[in-house]
Amino acid sequence: MGSPVRLTSAELYERALELLPGGVNSPVRAMRAIGRDPIFVARGEGAELIDVEGNGYVDWVMSWGPLIAGHAHPDVVAAVTAAAAAGTSFGAPTEAEVQLAAEVVERVPSAEMVRMVSSGTEATMSALRLARAATGRDRIAKFAGAYHGHVDGLLADAGSGLATQGIPASPGVTAAQAADTAVLRWGTVPEERELAAIVCEPYPANMGLVPPPDGFLEALRAHADETGALLVFDEVISGFRVAPGGAQEREGVTPDLSILGKVIGGGLPAAAYAGRRDLMERVAPAGDVYQAGTLSGNPLATAAGLATLGLLDAGAYERLEALTALLADGLERVVADTGASACVSRVPGLVTLFFAPAPPTDYEAARACDLEAHAAFCRAMLDAGIYLPPSQFEAWFPSLAHTEAHVERTLAAAREALAAL
Ligand code: PMP
Repeated sequence: MGSPVRLTSAELYERALELLPGGVNSPVRAMRAIGRDPIFVARGEGAELIDVEGNGYVDWVMSWGPLIAGHAHPDVVAAVTAAAAAGTSFGAPTEAEVQLAAEVVERVPSAEMVRMVSSGTEATMSALRLARAATGRDRIAKFAGAYHGHVDGLLADAGSGLATQGIPASPGVTAAQAADTAVLRWGTVPEERELAAIVCEPYPANMGLVPPPDGFLEALRAHADETGALLVFDEVISGFRVAPGGAQEREGVTPDLSILGKVIGGGLPAAAYAGRRDLMERVAPAGDVYQAGTLSGNPLATAAGLATLGLLDAGAYERLEALTALLADGLERVVADTGASACVSRVPGLVTLFFAPAPPTDYEAARACDLEAHAAFCRAMLDAGIYLPPSQFEAWFPSLAHTEAHVERTLAAAREALAAL
């Protein structure tokens, strides 16, 4: 037997382009916005990625958020392995689902009951169905630059991959679905008084990180209370990351419903929606709002989520915040030293380097960033072994596996990349 043929990233991409639309299974992976071909990953170790050619990278994408404990954390791997050995799916209840729901309820202020699903998209779609049923209203308000998954009615002016590819709204969304969505500028309280829900990322991270203006989340809460709309926080990114109970805990504003994802599945497909008991009791089979899933609460995903949440004690959040500060402060220093026209936005566990003179406060400002400079920066960083989100409209994801040495390597590479711009 000869040794197996190893394909390079370039060879795999060429083949992938024949088989997968754009060569990938999710758009931002393609790296088109930075004018690069994607790197095909062989494995991850802690905070590092190793590609199929054996090159190592400091990873600041971390699967776009789920890997708060790092790649292949031994506790998570052990939990998933043990779960797999006991059966990968039953389509019947398990003890671990009850344990995971209890962990969510304990941490997330708005969560009195939880329904597990398999993706953030599914969680958003289901939470909005519930909000419409509970209020008897159709219209939803969302904010430009926010991304809530590829839910038909929420693709207008969405961030993340749509922003990256310059897609203002997707063909295939019916006029009726689009008409039921009001898109507002981030920082603007809706004027409409007949909304079913106001949905927001309390810390928007899909137009780059654009934290809310002071008092804005409180103003949304007050508007919802006054008008009978439900306030829905999409904490798919911020949940279990910026604080144990997410942005709602950190900001002291409690939504009616919360959308959770990423960290809750520890790198396996899991997400959830959660909220007030009287609302969640409307979900079937307790109530009449139908929602179901063959793999919902899947044993492997549940095990990975429980193991990951088990690692997130008070010390872990302190370390993540300190690591974020080290990175963000360091980037600010490098920007100042090199005279680059860039700035840093941060909350604990999330960082964006914006190629703009001041941090954007809305989608329009985020879109005005120097995307060419951002692309050149990302390409140079990749060549220096630093794997960044290949889009200005995303955040970097520090994790518990990143060390001071990873930050130092990143800052040294950033200094060279910015100086060369
Ligand atoms: N909401 C937010 C805030 C997200 O960032 C994402 C994905 N990045 C989603 C929802 C959709 O989650 P998923 O990709 O699991 O469908």
